[in-house]
Amino acid sequence: MALLFTSDLHLEGSRPETTERFVEFVRERARHADALYILGDLFEAWIGDDDTDPRLKPVIEALKSLHRAGVPCAIMHGNRDFLIGRRFAAATGCRLLGDYETIDAFGQRVLLTHGDLLCTDDSRYQSLRAMLRDPDWQRDFLGKPLGERRTVAEELRGVSRSETASKPEDIMDVNPAAVEAAMRRFDVRHLLHGHTHRPAVHDLTVEGGAAKRIVLGAWHQQGWFVRWDEHGFTLETC
Ligand code: MN
Repeated sequence: MALLFTSDLHLEGSRPETTERFVEFVRERARHADALYILGDLFEAWIGDDDTDPRLKPVIEALKSLHRAGVPCAIMHGNRDFLIGRRFAAATGCRLLGDYETIDAFGQRVLLTHGDLLCTDDSRYQSLRAMLRDPDWQRDFLGKPLGERRTVAEELRGVSRSETASKPEDIMDVNPAAVEAAMRRFDVRHLLHGHTHRPAVHDLTVEGGAAKRIVLGAWHQQGWFVRWDEHGFTLETC
């Protein structure tokens, strides 16, 4: 048996092939797992649990079936779908995680996070994040009609696209000191995250000991996931 981890699917109605790949992943691979962890950005945008875009229904249904089959699924917010809330959790049976979670993976303590909090060099993004995570901003946004929320989400995506295009590459990657600080704070030798879309396994040293930073990839050309069993972990594609 194994634990499965994935992130950055960026599912949206206009990309049905990625939705199909994810639904198959949930129905087949995850069905035989001990648990599934989704580490943020399951959706390209999430404007509230009351959005009933029928094109995303298969995702909800697949997660609900997984839950009914007895496989626990936990989900973390990404920078795209940070408004996933209790109604989504109730509809799918997924447990909502905080920004940092530690788990036991076959005797190994592992820190899970989406990854955006570790990109501390990107100060413009961090101040935008602070605004979007503010409970007052969220209450105000969720109080707007769906159409208006869709427009705001589109505007935010436009801002993000133009910012991303003009920023140096290394600013949008994790900051090594922030990585080390998080690993020390949570007392782990393994950190697993997504967000940067730079799938890799990095060896590093934390407090004099060998450590690993495992980075999931985005589901664009193919799917990315980590499988962790009693023999350790592998970063795989599907
Ligand atoms: Mn992200």
